[in-house]
Amino acid sequence: MKQTPVQKNEMLEVHFEDVTHDGSGVAKVDGYPIFVPNGLSGEKAKIKVTKVNKNYGFGRLMEILSASPNRVEAPCPIYYQCGGCQLQHFSYEGQLKAKEKQVRDVLERIGKLENVTVHPVLGMEDPWRYRNKAQVPVGEEAGRLVSGFYQARSHRIINMEACLIQHEQNDTAIQIVKDICQRYDISAYKEETNKGILRHVMTRYGYTTEDMMIVLVTRTPELPHRKQIVKEIVESIPAVKAIVQNINPKQTNVIFGEKTKVLWGSEVIYDYIGDIKFAISARSFYQVNPKQTKILYEKALEYAALSGEETVIDAYCGIGTISLFLAKKAKKVYGVEIVPEAIADANRNAQLNGIENVVFEVGKAEQVIPQWYKEGVQADVLVVDPPRKGCDEALLDTILDMKPERVVYVSCNPATLARDLRILEDGGYKTLEVQPVDMFPHTGHVECVALITLI
Ligand code: SAH
Repeated sequence: MKQTPVQKNEMLEVHFEDVTHDGSGVAKVDGYPIFVPNGLSGEKAKIKVTKVNKNYGFGRLMEILSASPNRVEAPCPIYYQCGGCQLQHFSYEGQLKAKEKQVRDVLERIGKLENVTVHPVLGMEDPWRYRNKAQVPVGEEAGRLVSGFYQARSHRIINMEACLIQHEQNDTAIQIVKDICQRYDISAYKEETNKGILRHVMTRYGYTTEDMMIVLVTRTPELPHRKQIVKEIVESIPAVKAIVQNINPKQTNVIFGEKTKVLWGSEVIYDYIGDIKFAISARSFYQVNPKQTKILYEKALEYAALSGEETVIDAYCGIGTISLFLAKKAKKVYGVEIVPEAIADANRNAQLNGIENVVFEVGKAEQVIPQWYKEGVQADVLVVDPPRKGCDEALLDTILDMKPERVVYVSCNPATLARDLRILEDGGYKTLEVQPVDMFPHTGHVECVALITLI
């Protein structure tokens, strides 16, 4: 193997030439890049080399010798232990610029797309307390229940009382549920032995309706003292409209199991985006940042440029959020989604809003859409909003066969977006513009909407 210019555990004085979208400083030693979490562009620092790969390495920030004007004091007291946020040391303005640059770089490097218009990232006016959903693992420390986050590289759970990107209602609800379960001696799940009961607590809060759902994820189907626990939760959290138990008996770090049952109240809570009302059940995907979701969907709708005559497909439709916005402006909308509970919500949501020109189907987008195409469905506009791994190739092939005039691609991962855009471009499409939206301030994530048209 070629000799690297630095060795593990070496102490170095470096200058960060760049910063990555997830808040690592990039230093170069004889052209060899070293990534250092919490470093910022323009800074001089002492680092310790922690890992050496063939073409790049990693380091730990030991001391900042000269700080960037973009460096800010992280407001969260547990920022450096938690790992949930990566950018609290970076001014918000700096974060948005770094995310814009990341999108542009990735489109060029992975997608080989040149001269695509990438707009400045649409950020939040107040980028704190934005999340509507909290999901925390439960553990035990000195005989008491703790909930929060995993310590880096361990199974130990560190207790968290407040999370500054979380709505206060979620913080409070988690503390209350934990205290009640503690009083009834509910044990925490232990992954090493697959023993104990309570694995995770999830809470979701509808910002517009002030409805709250509490989900207790347990290993066992029985929850001891269930009646009293439920009664106390209802009495202590006035916003609660639904208490749900999900059962996950498996020895795994996957959060949810197959079975979900309602312990009290409704199986859904409601929330509005714009003037459309949505029912959301425990297992359904629902965007976590409601303010930015509205901006994201408005952009997707603008790119769809509907006149009322179009047939539209919404692939990876979840509970039909984008589908219903589209349906108000299109002739007909077809939505497809893999989670049956989400499609049940989608149908309920169409009904709730009196929207009749929409059809939803459970299944894989890459199987259902080719089938629709065979049956004669021809979309004028196709919207995709896949998970991080991007679109399945079979779906991209079908798009190239069906040739909708416009594709609107909503993406939570610029790398797979770039890969998929390349495939569409090679098949006769052109990417006109990309609008990044900051759905996850203080984290390294960035969401994008891209407009792609047939040439
Ligand atoms: N457009 C929706 C959901 C986007 S999240 C919204 O904005 O709320 C991506 C969704 O894709 C999730 O609901 C997930 O369950 C679904 N999904 C994942 N793989 C899929 C596949 N192969 N086919 C269809 N849906 C899939």
